[in-house]
Amino acid sequence: MEKLSFTLADRLYEYPCFELYQQFRPEIPVVFNEVLENRIDVDFSGEALVLTAVEKGEVVLQKEYDYQKKPLDKQSFKGFLYLFLCELFGHTLDWGTMTGIKPVKMAHNLLKEGLSPIQVKQNLMEKYQASEGKIELITGIAQREMGIIYPLSRKKVSVYVGIPLCIAKCAYCSFISTVADKKRTIVAEYLENLLYEVRLTGHYLKEKGIVADTLYIGGGTPSILDETQLETLLTALDEALDLRCLREYTFEAGRPETTNRRKLEILKAHGVDRVCLNPQTMNADTLTAVNRNYPPQAILEAYDTIRHVGFESVNMDLILGLNRESEETFMSSLDQVIALRPENITIHCLAVKKGSAIKTATGRQVENPYSKVFCADIQKELGRKGYRPYYLYRQKYTQGNGENIGYCLEGKEGIYNILMMAEKQSIIGIGAGSSGKLYVPETDRFDRIFTVKDVKTYNERTENIMGKKMAQYEAFFNDRV
Ligand code: SF4
Repeated sequence: MEKLSFTLADRLYEYPCFELYQQFRPEIPVVFNEVLENRIDVDFSGEALVLTAVEKGEVVLQKEYDYQKKPLDKQSFKGFLYLFLCELFGHTLDWGTMTGIKPVKMAHNLLKEGLSPIQVKQNLMEKYQASEGKIELITGIAQREMGIIYPLSRKKVSVYVGIPLCIAKCAYCSFISTVADKKRTIVAEYLENLLYEVRLTGHYLKEKGIVADTLYIGGGTPSILDETQLETLLTALDEALDLRCLREYTFEAGRPETTNRRKLEILKAHGVDRVCLNPQTMNADTLTAVNRNYPPQAILEAYDTIRHVGFESVNMDLILGLNRESEETFMSSLDQVIALRPENITIHCLAVKKGSAIKTATGRQVENPYSKVFCADIQKELGRKGYRPYYLYRQKYTQGNGENIGYCLEGKEGIYNILMMAEKQSIIGIGAGSSGKLYVPETDRFDRIFTVKDVKTYNERTENIMGKKMAQYEAFFNDRV
């Protein structure tokens, strides 16, 4: 099937149709109101809602939803469509009608309302028709995260500093990062503008008496900065922000060939206490295939240096599905990473998104080469070795509809990751592509502050961008702290 059309008069229901259908058939593009021979007609015009699936011009399934029995809203529509699609495709989905990227938040909110973990599970299973395994997983994570998220404080924020610059583009990456020129001129220019933002934002927060709860320097590849640049940035952050109450300071030294002992010593001297070294795979062929041109040995050596410099918290990412690796190949990477005993291991499911070389080469390719049993085995293996899930999020276009899960050794949760997903604390985003969130406790919602993603534009318009951001901060914080 080339594409599928939903025909429906009410635009309100278009997105639920698209979202849910994509969970079943991510490889099929969805369009609306085109009379194709493969379509699902959604008819609200009579006394009942009628769903009709048409394949090659023939009706293959038809169901009615009686408004008299239960009034129709978005959630009940989704539930009805979900059952319809289950029947059409002959299988259920582990996540049921949960299509959001932060399912743990739902469990948090119910726990916060005072429901017991058992009640939370029952409530979510009934509402979203998700599998017991997934609901158990998110409820367990939510329970463990509560002590890290609460109590809330208006005077605390997390700060994210983005350095969306890389030495080369990984084939799977859809993130808007700029590959630096040979002379690294763009890195120097970016740093200059980033420092301007760090100082302006930091001094504003300090004036308001707002302290940093966690600080995260992410990328791109922040370790692209040379030693002098790194020292300059970290000194500026020390001076600009109030770091006296900092619970966690993370630095992404993602690619091993960009880091060295001196850089790590600089990080250590400035109080960084969590370093990310992200192998993605320990397989040499896969590394080459995804344009990470270093041998697995480089990862082991970088890890060794990180430990020698004295870091007690290290995160390592692996991606499930790179280069269509076999289950054995992935397990071999996992075993090698576990043997190193990093405090955190994050398992991502490959998401094939627009902007990545894989997507450009293959089109919409999200078929899943792994069985459900294998995915469960990964969790079991990590559990056997003392790692338990501490945060989880979902992405669109992931292979097999999988989720990304962060695992940690006892008491070694990555705090920023939890706070960012929980959305109960303001996140101050600094730098190109950073996405800030200003949390409003009264409404349990947040205002977003976006910063232009492209480094070149950021460099050209820093003052203008900062003028707008500072006005947004002032409008938000002025009468709140
Ligand atoms: S995956 Fe990371 S290191 Fe690779 S290109 Fe994307 S941002 Fe850069």
